Amino acid sequence: MDTEHYDLLIIGGGINGAGIARDAAGRGLKVLLVEQGDLASATSSASTKLIHGGLRYLEYFEFRLVAEALAERETLLRIAPHIVWPMEFVLPHESHLRPAWVIRAGLFLYDHLGHRMFGSGSRSSLPTSKGVRLVPDGYGAGLKPEFEHGFVYYDCWVDDARLVVLNARSAAAHGATILTHTRFVSARRDGGEWAATLNGERGKRTVHASAIVNAAGPWVRQVLDEALKIKLPATVRLVKGSHIVVPRIHEEGHAFILQNPDRRVIFMIPYERQFTLVGTTDVPVTRDDFRARISRQEIDYLCEAASRYAEKPITPGMVVWTYSGVRPLYDDGSENPSAVTRDYHLLLDTGGEPDGAPVLSVFGGKITTYRRLAEQVMEKLSVRFPGKPAWTHAEPLPGGDLEGRSFRGLLLDYRRRHPRLPKLWLARMLRRHGALAEEIIGDAREERGLGRNFGGGLYERELEYLVGNEWARDVEDVLWRRTKCGLHMSTAQKVEVRDWLAARV
Ligand SMILES: Cc1cc2nc3c(=O)[nH]c(=O)nc-3n(C[C@H](O)[C@H](O)[C@H](O)COP(=O)(O)OP(=O)(O)OC[C@H]3O[C@@H](n4cnc5c(N)ncnc54)[C@H](O)[C@@H]3O)c2cc1C
Repeated sequence: MDTEHYDLLIIGGGINGAGIARDAAGRGLKVLLVEQGDLASATSSASTKLIHGGLRYLEYFEFRLVAEALAERETLLRIAPHIVWPMEFVLPHESHLRPAWVIRAGLFLYDHLGHRMFGSGSRSSLPTSKGVRLVPDGYGAGLKPEFEHGFVYYDCWVDDARLVVLNARSAAAHGATILTHTRFVSARRDGGEWAATLNGERGKRTVHASAIVNAAGPWVRQVLDEALKIKLPATVRLVKGSHIVVPRIHEEGHAFILQNPDRRVIFMIPYERQFTLVGTTDVPVTRDDFRARISRQEIDYLCEAASRYAEKPITPGMVVWTYSGVRPLYDDGSENPSAVTRDYHLLLDTGGEPDGAPVLSVFGGKITTYRRLAEQVMEKLSVRFPGKPAWTHAEPLPGGDLEGRSFRGLLLDYRRRHPRLPKLWLARMLRRHGALAEEIIGDAREERGLGRNFGGGLYERELEYLVGNEWARDVEDVLWRRTKCGLHMSTAQKVEVRDWLAARV
């Protein structure tokens, strides 16, 4: 390893780093991705988990971003139908916050922007928006009866942390080396390439690379300033966002997008069958706050915002879990943290020499647009690595090739073939692993065959699989990122998983 040479060294195993690793490896490049913690251990597991155009960004005239993101919904539905699925959103109408004509105009644009600007050739596969009566049409479940009218539109849900892991798996299948728990310490230009120092579990080592991609998310500036000692004009705005999880507020499948008097919007989304996810906040932070945690004020803010609409008040005492992440936004000078652009910027530095070793830094971005971002990174680096066409729109992510079946078709097929395996568990397995679930089920015909039952829908077979195939090592990796079994387990059950991992890894 010490003397090894790579075409591309990628710093950061969030969605952007993993997506770029996949794209580059599939174009035949020799890729090394280093992540200082676990894959998706920072912002990319802390999102609202929407593959969305971002309805509210229309108010900030972010037409390019919205159009690209809307077009990406179609692509991601196609390449990852197990972890990405359509979700219906209900927007209760409050005329004093936004008049109906403004909302209708916004939804009209939202229905048409994606395929108009990016010309996918066909219309969106998702239904178009419409006005609805909340109570008689069934959309008011869980809301105060005073909300009578509203609008319905569609976006998509994604398991964000699994999207990262599946991109890393695909990258590895195309030949990339993925090193978690390995920190990028520094690098210097050396005869037209980079010599980089990494610090992993076996200590420090040096590797050589033709180019570096800095996809360090909230740490992008720190990597530039401290590890690479490069001055670039761009700055990153760090904006914390938090979510709370409470017992489910209604039994229907739809989510709510709620207008708040401060003009922000809050989502209430059905989550893991028994729960409702409420988020998010926009709190400016400094680099000292990187280990993001929700504050008492944020919990109060989210409870208050949700309770304005919810039939039964949502109180801090109902919160069963919280998570927070830091958005690494490109600083466009906006004073209001909610207004800072969610679009991404790619900054290339070649050390002042036209053919100097390049480092490309990623500022901003969204889970939704990671795949297009990766394509644009490859375009920017095409002087170094010419000639290979874009491909990631066409090949399904691991487990995403359902061989022509819908997700429901896959589920019915598995239920037919495995009638004695727990039904709910099968559904959860397919949502996590898609067509690869068979690799975990193997020859198990009934629950006993799945190995030790840790509770919360986690069996030893899957645990073995996550450790062997998905770089899982610690209890957090398994219970909160590769799965959300943590939400369904007691403390004692979690300790058992921790002890199993400590003995196994
Ligand atoms: C509250 C919230 C809600 C959001 N909701 C949505 C949403 O619904 N839909 C959507 O599309 N987007 C959403 N986003 C945006 C999206 O989550 C982010 O844009 C995206 O996750 C950023 O990914 P990233 O790879 O750039 O950063 P990260 O996921 O933070 O990854 C960067 C990685 O780099 C690693 N790293 C840093 N320094 C080093 C080093 N020196 N060596 C090795 N590794 C290093 C870090 O450990 C980290 O894992 C949301 C964001 C937040 C915070």
